[in-house]
Formats: sequence, C-alpha cells, structure tokens
Amino acid sequence: MLEFQYQALPGRVVFGAGAARRELAGELDRLAAKRVLLVTGGSAEETARALADPLGERVVTVFAGVRPHVPLRVAEAARALAASVEADALLAVGGGSAVGTAKAIALTTGLAILAVPTTYAGSEMTSVWGLTENNRKTTGTDPRVLPATVIYDPELTVGLPARTSTASGLNAMAHCVEAFWAPDRNPVSTLAAREGIRALAEALPRVRHDPDAREGLLYGAYLAGSAFAVAGSGLHHKICHVLGGAYDLPHALTHAVVLPHVLAFNAPCAPEAAAAIAESLDGGHNGDNGNGGDPVARLRALNTELGVPCGLRALGLRADQVFEAAELVAPLVPEDNPRPVDLAALRGLIHAAWAGTRAEAGGGK
Ligand code: NAD
Repeated sequence: MLEFQYQALPGRVVFGAGAARRELAGELDRLAAKRVLLVTGGSAEETARALADPLGERVVTVFAGVRPHVPLRVAEAARALAASVEADALLAVGGGSAVGTAKAIALTTGLAILAVPTTYAGSEMTSVWGLTENNRKTTGTDPRVLPATVIYDPELTVGLPARTSTASGLNAMAHCVEAFWAPDRNPVSTLAAREGIRALAEALPRVRHDPDAREGLLYGAYLAGSAFAVAGSGLHHKICHVLGGAYDLPHALTHAVVLPHVLAFNAPCAPEAAAAIAESLDGGHNGDNGNGGDPVARLRALNTELGVPCGLRALGLRADQVFEAAELVAPLVPEDNPRPVDLAALRGLIHAAWAGTRAEAGGGK
C-alpha cells in the first residue's frame, strides 16, 4: 500500500559547465542582491575570489574564515561582519563548510543565500544547519537557511584534489543510500537517490584521470542533496554526525568508511532497498554486478578502488572512544530504522567501522 507525505522544497538550480561565470550576476539580480557578502575559505578561496571579481563593488566584503563543522565562534564572527557591512545577500563559494557558514548567518538574519558548491557534500540543497561548540555538534532545520539559488558548475570542481573528490563523492553516495530508509523518505526522494547512486558510481572511478567525470559527480551530488533534504537523517548520518562533532573526524571520509557498515547492518531487514541500491550501483541494470548483486560487496569494492582507509582508527578515532560514541548515537537513532538498533548493536557496528572489519550483509549482529 502506497502512503506518503512530501514537503517539496523551493529553490532554483542552475547546472552547467561555465554556469558560475556566465550566470552569477544575473542570478544575483533575480535575488535583488546589491550588497553581497562572499563567504568562503580554505582551498576554495582563490576560486571564490576569481568568481566574485567581475562583480566589483557589489561584493561589499569577504568572510574567508570558514572552518569545518561551523564552530560557533566562526558563525558569530561571520554574522557580525554581515551586520557591519549591511549585507543584503550571501554568496557562498566552497564546500559544505562555506555553505554551512552562510547558513549560520541566514539562520539569524534571514538573508538569501546564493550557493556555488565546489565539493559534492550536498548541503546547498537542504534546509539543515549545523553548529559546533565544545565538541558537540547541534543541527536543526529552518527554511531560512535553504539557499534561494544554487549554481552547479562542474568546471569549479576540476581543481578539487582526487582524494578530497572521492571522499566527497562518497559523502554524496551516503546521502543517497540512507535516503532509502531515512524517516521522511517518499517515492520522489527514492527516485532521486537511485539516479544519484547510478551517477556517482559511474563517475567516481573516473575522477582521477578524466575531468569529464566532474559533471556526473556534481549531478550525483545535486540528486544526493535533494534526496537527503527531503528524506532526512537516518542511522548512518546520526553516527557520522556524532563522530564529526565529538571527535573532529574528517567529515567526508568518515561517511565513506562508515557507509558499508550501516548498509551491511540494515540490508537484511530492507531487502527491497538493498536490491535497488545494488541495481543502481551497477549502472541501473537489473543484473549481477560481479558481486552477486550484493550492494555491500559493491560498495566495499568501490571504497577499495578509491583508496578509502578501511577503518575509523586510520582517521584518528581511538579504541576507547568507540563505546562512548555508541552511547552518544543511541538516543538519536530514528525509531523506524529497518533493523532495531540497541546499544549493543551500535557498539558492534561502530567497532567494526573503527577496526575496518570487512563489512558483510547481516553484519553487526
Ligand atoms: P569542506 O567544505 O570543509 O571542504 C573540504 C576541503 O575541500 C576543504 O579543505 C576545502 O578547503 C577544500 N575545497 C573546497 N572546494 C575546493 C576547490 N574547488 N578546490 C580545492 N579545494 C577545495 O567539506 P565538505 O566535505 O564539502 O563539507 C562538509 C561539511 O558540510 C560538514 O561540516 C558537514 O556537516 C556539512 N554538511 C552539511 C549538510 C547539510 O545538509 N547541512 C550536508 C552535507 C554536509
């Protein structure tokens, strides 16, 4: 029996190679933006400044201090700058950290965001904000933080190093896979997730040697963000959210390492989702993907091919933090996760992800 609720999100998307340079001024006109604050930082700053340069004085100032997971002090500094220059719009150019900082400003000011993502994190499609203080990450949902316009330009991601690109693409893959069982999933988010997995699985292995792969990756990231924006966070995102906030683990790689373990845990209790994920990983063909139609084996093989470290311990998580992490995650897990989750199961799952134990469907028992 088909029964669902679907709250479609507003927002304009412009996609295409060269679109950022071509369309940026016109898209700011659409938003009636006259005093723009550019929000950027890290390795994306050069790209951001070059993009904003032709806008001249319309960009009144630059906040270039973005940090991973949006520390509260960074958000407060960015908000103070926006107020001091009387900004009337935000231009976020960079990865999830730049978009997240713009969201933190929009949360208290209501300023419109034009986002130009340069990674595959997908934050630009969601109305989810996140702030970190004292090693704890708080997240929430607010329509004010959803970017009004997103320009996806594959050319801007060509300079993203291969290792960052593959980790970020697997972050997008995690949004898609989790969208199959996340609490607010519906047939539309599932369709986006299926196509996102197909596009990402096709493009990820090519990214090291083929600049054309960037288009598929960014398209997959857009679909991943769209699916995640509607379906919400399930078991996988709750685990990664705790690991990122409490132990400062690298966001995208944490997703990449944990995903096969969550899929292995849930797959036996979500056979239709597992079959659809396997089919999409195999390019949308309803056949054997060389791994007996097993999506866990397929994802594991993809991680190996892309050189993803096999355990969270390689990312800096200590053995004595595994059980603590499980306790932090336990109260956050959605009740309708396909497989019941108790503290023992969480300890098993996070320990397996920490040790880099080979994820097998039905794992975590
Ligand atoms: P990030 O923004 O920190 O970028 C990762 C790295 O890539 C950084 O070192 C950055 O300087 C570099 N970089 C970015 N663009 C570049 C470019 N064009 N060339 C070279 N280097 C470049 O990390 P991320 O993985 O994009 O995003 C992760 C953050 O986003 C986390 O804080 C996460 O919680 C958040 N996020 C939020 C949502 C949401 O819906 N709210 C969704 C996904 C991710």
